[in-house]
Amino acid sequence: MAGELILIVEDNEKNRKLLRDLLQVKGYKTIESETAEEGVRLAQESQPALILMDIQLPGMDGITALKGLRAEPKTRDIPVIAVTASAMTNKRETMLAEGFDGYQTKPISVNDFLEEVRRVLEVHGGVGAAS
Ligand code: MN
Repeated sequence: MAGELILIVEDNEKNRKLLRDLLQVKGYKTIESETAEEGVRLAQESQPALILMDIQLPGMDGITALKGLRAEPKTRDIPVIAVTASAMTNKRETMLAEGFDGYQTKPISVNDFLEEVRRVLEVHGGVGAAS
């Protein structure tokens, strides 16, 4: 079931375009931000069904952003997938322990990525759709 709104928080333009294109081809709607600060604001405003969060960002990092999202009633239940450079946060368990709902390393594998998106949306079915 596509059509869900997905927020992409990613400072690298090429990565952002790749994620956007993959998701839109599958029928998802996307919104984007280049910083965590803007991403948190957009999440509150737009109530996406899912957030893809880069970890290394200018200013606030993705882990801090997740804590901010979880601290706010309007965004605390939105699932968040960490999308990280493998050299940096290379342990899925580490990221899940931080509270992320899913995990993908960059460069992403198209099939794994889309499967993770589907899986997390399914687990959190309906979240964000009511607003
Ligand atoms: Mn980055």
